[in-house]
Parts: sequence; C-alpha cells; structure tokens
Amino acid sequence: MNRKFDAIIIGTGQAGPSLAARFAEAGMTVVIIERHKFGGTCVNTGCIPTKTLVASAYAARVARRGAEYGFAINGDVTVDMKRVKTRKDEVSGRSNRGVEEWLRGLKNCTVIQGHARFQSSHTVVVNDEVLQADKIFINVGGRASVPAMPGIQDVPFLTNSSMMDVDFLPGHLVIVGGSYIGLEFGQMYRRFGSEVTIVEMGPRLIGREDEDISEAVRQIMEAEGIQVRLNAKCIKLAKRNSRIAVGIGCDEGPPEVVGTHVLLAVGRTPNTNDLGLDRAGVAIDPRGYIVVDDQLQTNVAGIWALGDCNGRGAFTHTSYNDYEIVADNLLNGDHRRVSDRIQAYALYTDPPLGRCGMTDAEVRKSGRPALAAKHPMSRVSRAVEKGETQGFIKISVDAETKHILGAAILGTGGDEVIHVLLDVMYAKAPYTVVQRAMHIHPTVAEFLPTVLSNLQPVA
Ligand SMILES: Cc1cc2nc3c(=O)[nH]c(=O)nc-3n(C[C@H](O)[C@H](O)[C@H](O)COP(=O)(O)OP(=O)(O)OC[C@H]3O[C@@H](n4cnc5c(N)ncnc54)[C@H](O)[C@@H]3O)c2cc1C
Repeated sequence: MNRKFDAIIIGTGQAGPSLAARFAEAGMTVVIIERHKFGGTCVNTGCIPTKTLVASAYAARVARRGAEYGFAINGDVTVDMKRVKTRKDEVSGRSNRGVEEWLRGLKNCTVIQGHARFQSSHTVVVNDEVLQADKIFINVGGRASVPAMPGIQDVPFLTNSSMMDVDFLPGHLVIVGGSYIGLEFGQMYRRFGSEVTIVEMGPRLIGREDEDISEAVRQIMEAEGIQVRLNAKCIKLAKRNSRIAVGIGCDEGPPEVVGTHVLLAVGRTPNTNDLGLDRAGVAIDPRGYIVVDDQLQTNVAGIWALGDCNGRGAFTHTSYNDYEIVADNLLNGDHRRVSDRIQAYALYTDPPLGRCGMTDAEVRKSGRPALAAKHPMSRVSRAVEKGETQGFIKISVDAETKHILGAAILGTGGDEVIHVLLDVMYAKAPYTVVQRAMHIHPTVAEFLPTVLSNLQPVA
C-alpha cells in the first residue's frame, strides 16, 4: 500500500530541511528522505568542514609569522593532523546532528533513511516502500566529478569527500584542478606542512574570474611555496612505486610531477543518474542537471528541483535561496524568481576573494558605458595594521544609471565587505549612496567610498 503525503522531499541538503520545516509548520504532511549524511555536502564534506580546516591552517600560518608581529614560539610550529581533524569533525558533526534532530523533531514530518527513486511522477520508492504525493521536491545535490583521465583506475585518489578522513600529513599533495575547491585545499595543506602542487588544465587559475584576480591568486599561492602548473593539457596518472606520477605535458617545466597523494578537484556532477527521473518524465540537460524554470519547477507539473542538482547555482546560499523562492511562492502566493538574484560568492583562500555581480570581462562584453576603479589592499590601513596587504578592491558601475555592476574584493575581510556593495545592488540604489556614506575607521569597508571616488571610464 502506498503511504500518501502532501509533499515528498528527496535529500537533506541546504534546501530540503528548511522546506520540510516550513511545510510542516503550515500543516502539510511531509516525508523527507536522506540516503547518506543529514545536511548533505555543505555540512559534511563542503563548506563547514573546509572552512573549519581553513581556520586551523590560518592559525598555523599566523603562528609561523610570529616574528613579524613581535612574538616568538619556542620551537617549530608543527601541525597535529589528528587534532585538526577532530576539531573539524566536532564542528561538522554538530551541524550534522543538528539537522537530523531538527527534522526528527518536526511535527507532521516523517524522516526516512534510504535511497529514493521515482516510480512515476507522483510516487517515489525508498527501502521497498512506495510514497505518494502531489508535490515532490528534489534536493539531491552533487558529488566530485571523476573524469576518465588515463590511469585513473590504476591509482588511489582523493576527492573532497575522502579528504574529510585524512588525519595525517600528505608528504606531497598533487591537486588536479586549480579552481575554488582545489585552491582552498592547496593553501590549507601547504600551511599544514605538505608540499603542494596544483595542476590546472587551463592557462590560469580560477579561469572564470578576471585575469588580474587569477594572477594575484597565483602569486599568493606561489609566495607560500605552492607549485602551480598551468596549461596541463594531457593529465594522466600512473603508479611510481609508493608514489603517484601526474603527467602534465605542460608547455613549460618538467612533464610530470610525482607526489604521495592526488586530490581530484575538477568539478561536480549532479546526483541525478540513479533517481529514476525517466520514470517521472523529468527532463535533464546533457550534463545531468535537472531543467527548471525561473520558479524552479521541472517540466513535470508538481515536481521541483532545488540546489546544485538544477544547475542554477553551486553554493549553499543559492540552494537556500531556492528553498526561499519555492516556499514563498507556494505558501505565500509570492512570485519570487531565480533571475532576481545577483551572483555572489567567496573563495576562502587567505586572503579571501569576495565577489558580486559581473566580472570586468562581462561588463566589457555587455557593451554598456561603464566606470571602474581599483585600489590595492596595501593602501587600506586596516590591512596594513593587520599585516595582510595582499590583493585589491575593484568595482565597476554603469556610467548612466550609476548602478553597481560588479565588484571583487581580494583581501582581508573581502568575503564580508563585499556585502556592502551587494546590498546596494539589491536596493537598486546608485553607487553614490556608498560613496557618500560615512564608514567606520579603521575597516576595509571605509575605503569603498574612496574607491568609488576614483572611477574612470572603462576602455
Ligand atoms: C569542498 C567544498 C567546499 C564548498 N564550500 C562552499 C562554501 O564555502 N560556500 C558555499 O556557498 N558553498 C560551498 N560549497 C558548495 C555547497 O556545499 C553546495 O552548493 C551545497 O551543499 C548545496 O547543496 P544542495 O542543497 O544542492 O545539496 P547537498 O548538500 O549536496 O545535499 C544533497 C543530499 O541529497 C542526498 N541524496 C542524493 N541522492 C539521493 C537519493 N536518491 N535519495 C535520498 N537522498 C539523496 C545526499 O546524500 C545529500 O545528503 C562547497 C562544496 C565543496 C565540495
């Protein structure tokens, strides 16, 4: 016999649990299904554990720079990876348990552990049980991509998930992929004490960013002793006794690098291949992402897709925003849309990169008249006082409407300060609001009015 609910939610990532709580509160009967760890990627193998590790790595870095700040540590700064992992597990575990306890404590909400698959557009099977609902919400997230590169079957490799079990210091960590995840792990493990090489297929790191950002981040990595190998066109893997050789075939430099461990950080794959989507008639794109409209409805009435699996965002905040859009539209009769949100994210290297809106390249491509300004962090007094002067602030605005088009803050506090500009963008206010605001001294944000007073036409 089918068990009938008002809503079925598949996955407990960043959208599913909040949606379950909101529906349950509204008096709907809900079932939420999780096949692995409650809280999904962010909580267990993504944001929370990695940022906890980044904090340990930052502390080790500051300790090693003690002499610059006027203190000495008697003896070398060595990192106890078991304790680093224990700290990470505690922080991440608290969130994981919190999500599970929260869901299990909700009135009107049934929690099932198991792998869910569609049987039809209104039914889902889990642990041989058939669940039925008129509304089904897919929040299945994604996993690390493992491309079929030569030799991949012959060597052990790590992903962001298996990195979570590492409680030792790899002698030489070779990271394939020079984008957001690879850079965070790379700097963190260098600071823990590993030798680190980042191998990137493209001509620069974080190829989606502007060239000046890629270049500044490369310099930041190399200044800490991280080897960066670009243009690695034909990456291949092979065993070399107890080590692993990563063939690079770069235009310059040795053709391979031999490390003790390899981390693959070459993108994400949506968890949509074993979900029975064909039985429900739900359309996916060629990369496996579920096709959704501006309100996150799939092509099948009554089925929505939220979070990383819909290809409309790859962040915790985009997944959570998906939840808000769906819940407000269904429960409050709102008309919220994905296209209303402004692109924003951070890269959690040290210093971090905070980003919002368009890149310079996108601004130029748009062909609109624009003004832009750039200011080095070495001329931001708070950064000088903290001894953290790497990076820069840059902002571009529309010359006619005076609206902020985009900004990047690569520098201390950049992940927080960027919100000053982001919120003005949401307010659709002119940049002069920030330019004329009195900001607090000494902060990084106090320089935003100065930067905005130096805008020049974009060529
Ligand atoms: C290393 C790393 C660092 C990151 N750092 C950041 C960061 O700093 N900031 C940020 O915003 N984002 C970050 N992200 C991205 C962020 O983690 C994801 O965007 C976020 O978790 C959103 O995921 P989601 O809600 O789509 O689903 P997920 O969190 O991926 O959860 C999906 C859940 O669905 C379950 N599931 C899948 N299939 C089934 C099925 N058939 N049946 C039942 N359950 C199923 C899975 O087990 C999983 O628990 C990071 C990602 C990684 C990998």
